[in-house]
This record gives sequence, C-alpha cells and structure tokens, in this order.
Amino acid sequence: MYINKSKKIVIKIGSSILITKNGKPKKIWLEEFAKDIKLLISKKKQVIIVSSGAIALGCEYLGIKKNGLKIDKSQAIASIGQIVLMNFFKKIFDKSKIKISQILLTLDDTEQRRRAINAKRTIDNLLAMGIIPIVNENDTTATTEIKYGDNDRLAARVSQIISADCLILLSDVDGLYTRNPKKNRETKLIKTVREIDENVKKYATRTENFYGSGGMKTKIDAAKICQLSGCYMAIANGNHKNPIKKILKNQKCTWFLPRISKLDARKQWIIGSVAPKGEVIIDDGAIKAINNGKSLLPAGVKKINGIFEKGDHILVKDQNDTECARGLTSFSSIEIEKIKGSHSREIKNILGYSSREEIIHKDDLVKV
Ligand code: GLU
Repeated sequence: MYINKSKKIVIKIGSSILITKNGKPKKIWLEEFAKDIKLLISKKKQVIIVSSGAIALGCEYLGIKKNGLKIDKSQAIASIGQIVLMNFFKKIFDKSKIKISQILLTLDDTEQRRRAINAKRTIDNLLAMGIIPIVNENDTTATTEIKYGDNDRLAARVSQIISADCLILLSDVDGLYTRNPKKNRETKLIKTVREIDENVKKYATRTENFYGSGGMKTKIDAAKICQLSGCYMAIANGNHKNPIKKILKNQKCTWFLPRISKLDARKQWIIGSVAPKGEVIIDDGAIKAINNGKSLLPAGVKKINGIFEKGDHILVKDQNDTECARGLTSFSSIEIEKIKGSHSREIKNILGYSSREEIIHKDDLVKV
C-alpha cells in the first residue's frame, strides 16, 4: 500500500469536503479527520495539509453569497475567511493535541527557485518540530495572471518541492471514472494510472462536469507533476468519515504511480513547473542530442513561442508540437529569435556580446 510505503504525505482537502453547501464548517468530519492524522503520526509519518475553504468560510462569516464574486472582492474575503479556516482547524486539532502552522503561498513562491527552497526549508523545520503545516494559496495577493486558482496543482507543486512520497487529493468523488457515473451505468473506476495517455485524458474530459471546483483537469495536471517527481498521488473520496483510514483499508480510489525514479531536487523543480513562460520548437537532430544527455544548442531551434527572459522556465517541443523536455533558458526569446539555427560560435557576432553557448544547458534541461 502506497501510504504505508511513504514517509512524507501531503493531503489536500477541497472546500466541498470541509464545508457544507450552506457554507458551514463540517465539525464532525474534521474531528474524525484529526484521528486520521493521529493515526499517520503514530505510524511515524510526516503530514502536510493543503486546505481550501478561505473564500467559502469568509462568505459565510459575512453572510454573503460566493457565486459571482469579483476577484478583488474575493481577495478581501479570503483574508477574512483564512482566519476562520485556521481557527476551525486549531480548535479541533488542539483537542487531539496536534499543533498546526499556517503557510500561505503564491505562484511566485513556488516558481522562483530561491523562494521555493525557502518554503521547503520552513516546512522541513516545522515537520522536524512535530507541527502539521496547513498550506493554502495566498489568495489575498495572488492576481489572476499569477494565480494557481486551484489547490490541486498547488498541492502537487508543494509535494514536489518538499520531496513528498505521496499526495492524496480528497475530493467528493471516488476517483477517475471512464464515464460520468451520474449519467452512465457502464462506468468504471480506474484503480491505477501508470501513464497519462490519450485514454486517461479522454476519461477526464468526459467526466469533467462531475468533479468539484478544480474539476478533473487540475487533478490530472497535479498527477503529471507528481508522476514526474517520483511521488504517488491518489484521488479519493473524502466525504466519508476517516477517509485516510479507509484508503489504508483499501477503499476504492485512483492511484497515479510515479513515472520515473526520483530526479535530483533541482531537476524535479524544473520539470514540475506550473507556469512555463514559452516554448522552443526543435529539429530531430537536437532531439537526438537531448536524448543523449546533451545541451540544447541554437542550431537545433526552429521556432519560438511566447515572450520570456533569461532564466525562465520553457518547454521544448518537437515539430509535431509534442513536449520532449523542459528547462531554464540561458537566453531571452528576443535573443533566441536572432540566434536560432546558427552555430554556437556565431552567437557573439550576432548578439554583439559574449554569452553562453547553449540555449538550455544540460544541467538545466530535463527530458519529459
Ligand atoms: N484557495 C481557495 C480558498 O481557500 C480555494 C482554491 C480551490 O478551491 O482549490 O478558498
């Protein structure tokens, strides 16, 4: 069982699990969930919670409706609801003698390497002190362009950054179905996903409306991040009492298995990027070179999409638009536009200054 094999476990709780349709916090559910956490602690596991609910609880506190809120209003409401959310956890976890901390992250905190390392250190320190960190997106400062917007991908990125062994997304469904179970009797729950292939994508699209706020798309995106960072991920029903105990007893759910053995932490961070700034399309020769562990040189670049700066995350694609690698670029998109197709020794002449020879150095490049 994957939970038993794991040491560091991240559990994501969606708003629909924690809060009723009328916006009331589900006290009994959280009391029972605290027992799940106790159980994991008794098995010497380290637990990190990612919890949604700030906006929903803020609305309930103010007595206003959640639907149709403008972004600036929901940011203000999140700042109110986040206190309600943490008070709710604190009051109930105190009774079980579980100490908690609050961590609010923005997209920048995970996408800038220095900040990501800092967040990891803080979380590691908390875990070493026996504290359960409770993470949410910092909705108050996140703007539309630089926002996760869903805690599925945030939880996956956090799992990757802290090198978690397992992520459990507690949702209001049992897992990934082949068809929408509300509409189709001939549906099947997928128990294990080794690869996110066309079939899995098809199931996710077919069942999209069946899933909560983040939908199935963000869950599959989260699974991709986990698969590439050597982390197991489950989509499981959190609506029952003691969902973790139930998963431990083999309750049905969908497990996504890691695709590769663990890369080093830096390469995991590169591959798990949730906000690549652009892409380069490369020729077959360059693909071969990358597959042999070489750097990406300007000669192999055919086309660029997007505007990006030196040091940004970019995708590397073949000429059929299939992603083959990800990396940190040594040049801006404007510079690559000028040097693409050229030999590395011509770079200085073209740009008028000396720089690196590779578009993406092999140390900054990870094959997908
Ligand atoms: N961060 C949002 C909140 O606390 C939730 C995002 C989500 O639903 O995944 O309300």
